Amino acid sequence: MAAAASLISRPDFLQAIDRRDLSVVFQPQLTADGQSVPSVEALLRWRRPDGSFIGAENAVAFAQSAGLIDVLGLYVLEQACSAAREWSGVTLAVNISPTHFAKPNFAEDVARVLDVTWFPANRLEIEIIESAAFENPEHASRQIEKLHAIGARVAMDDFGTGYSSLSLLQRLPFDKVKIDKSFIDGIPATRSVAILHAMIALVRALGMKVTAEGVETVEQQRFLKAAGCHYLQGYLYARPLPADSIPAFLAKYQPAPR
Ligand code: C2E
Ligand code: MG
Ligand code: MG
Repeated sequence: MAAAASLISRPDFLQAIDRRDLSVVFQPQLTADGQSVPSVEALLRWRRPDGSFIGAENAVAFAQSAGLIDVLGLYVLEQACSAAREWSGVTLAVNISPTHFAKPNFAEDVARVLDVTWFPANRLEIEIIESAAFENPEHASRQIEKLHAIGARVAMDDFGTGYSSLSLLQRLPFDKVKIDKSFIDGIPATRSVAILHAMIALVRALGMKVTAEGVETVEQQRFLKAAGCHYLQGYLYARPLPADSIPAFLAKYQPAPR
């Protein structure tokens, strides 16, 4: 059973970072035809010495409230880049919380981690949720440009659950949009299908890639592929896996198209 954010103490958290009790798992993201694995998403896991687990969202909420969100963000980035360096040609997606993304030196910090870990910038994708861009779109746009300048890409995560402001999509040069699982769950209900068609067409028309999150059934996969989604992620293909299971998983698929 996962502990709530309110049950975590600062020394607990800092000790977990020091002792590397916080780990990162990786969930494959496949092309819509299911043939190759162009990317993996890094997801935080925290198993305490007593065997209890703290869910990713609770760990992030705690780090946020304790003013440690950039410590956590850079820790995950460094762990993930170190692990993924040898997965040739595979893009690494890393979640970054809105407050961390808003820090003026965020892109410089990312560049430093890439240097230290020898991870190629063109294989890194930063995932941010809509609220990271909504508060201050001008600043978000500059951050995205800085990340593009170092060679990284930026995806909008959980699209459709927040403000869903179309002006954000119009103004900000995201490389990819990830449609939230809550929409995928609705397939094949008529209204869900109508909304998904419109979302996918919109994102594609803006020249961005589109990923569907939380794909669990073959019916969902068939619909999303036919509707024009580029990438699919979900339990249908793989749960998040420890780093040492990824090479064997990748070996079962064709090399990712360039
Ligand atoms: P997210 O970035 O949208 O990640 C996808 C979440 O959906 C993950 O949950 C993943 O395990 C889960 N998922 C993927 N496919 C399926 C599926 O087919 N069915 C179901 N039921 N679930 C699926 P997880 O790992 O618990 O992470 C939850 C959220 O916590 C993430 O949502 C992200 O917002 C946040 N998070 C995780 N790791 C980090 C991190 O390192 N930094 C930050 N800032 N946030 C993180
Ligand atoms: Mg994500
Ligand atoms: Mg998501």
